[in-house]
Amino acid sequence: MSQRRVVALLGQGLIPADTPILRADDLGVIRGDGIFETLHVRDGQPWLLDEHLDRMIGSAVRMDLELPPRALLLGLVAQVVPEWPAGTEGALRLVCTRGPEDGTGPVTMFATIGPITEETVRARRDGVSVLTASIGLPAGLRPEAPWLPGGAKTVSYAMNMASQRWALRSGAHDVLWVSADGYALEAPTSTLVWLDGTTLYTVPAASTGILAGTTARYLLDHAAELGFQTGERMTTPAELSQVDGVWFTSSVRGLAAVRVLDGVPLQFPVEAHEKIRRMLGFPITG
Ligand code: PLP
Repeated sequence: MSQRRVVALLGQGLIPADTPILRADDLGVIRGDGIFETLHVRDGQPWLLDEHLDRMIGSAVRMDLELPPRALLLGLVAQVVPEWPAGTEGALRLVCTRGPEDGTGPVTMFATIGPITEETVRARRDGVSVLTASIGLPAGLRPEAPWLPGGAKTVSYAMNMASQRWALRSGAHDVLWVSADGYALEAPTSTLVWLDGTTLYTVPAASTGILAGTTARYLLDHAAELGFQTGERMTTPAELSQVDGVWFTSSVRGLAAVRVLDGVPLQFPVEAHEKIRRMLGFPITG
């Protein structure tokens, strides 16, 4: 597994990975004011690039952020990807922060590619044990609340990371966020998908303000090829304990089966899991 990192900064191109690139007053650092995308690099190509760029543009609109034009984002991607060994999977990040605090701009925009961790591959292979945790908001609040940047992939991930650290401290791998009114929403870095009979479901993003996952979208858009129907609906942890399979999907970890929820083992449909895993194309050997 390669441990090096490739970095390109807008305006400067490729730079050594240890080059400092943020000012001390960059709003991305001091306020968590910025947006990002993470993509899987496989066979020398970023996977679902258009979908990620579309979502990043949507995040910028939601955050009133002057994201550089798409052509410049594509240019950054075109600089870093060829530098990554084609036979090695990688995690490509596109980051745009609001830049200096005095508002003189411009935004800080960079791309990096780094390695996939062993923990990621382990989760793909063995699945994850998950704890539910309340976010304290009703499921329908965020779309009605312009001050809560629902649906935007911002760099303000303090709550996401704190949730995952709490899970690890508590002997689990990950968290399923639950609304104040008891609905399962998403995980701190992944989308909830479940199988009930022959239908694959996910949680509606527009009516809940969760992040619209690109991996879950791809899976549901191609599920018919695997013989599944699809749907979007609300669910609860109690219902998830009864269904035929539960997964977290995300761009780099790919597909992780939720094997245990709040200490209770869940159904694990081996055949369906293998079919989905192969279609999504995430390796399970490090
Ligand atoms: N939900 C949140 C909060 C995330 O951070 C992520 C990962 O980026 C996802 C869902 C999954 O989205 P995607 O499949 O586009 O990586």
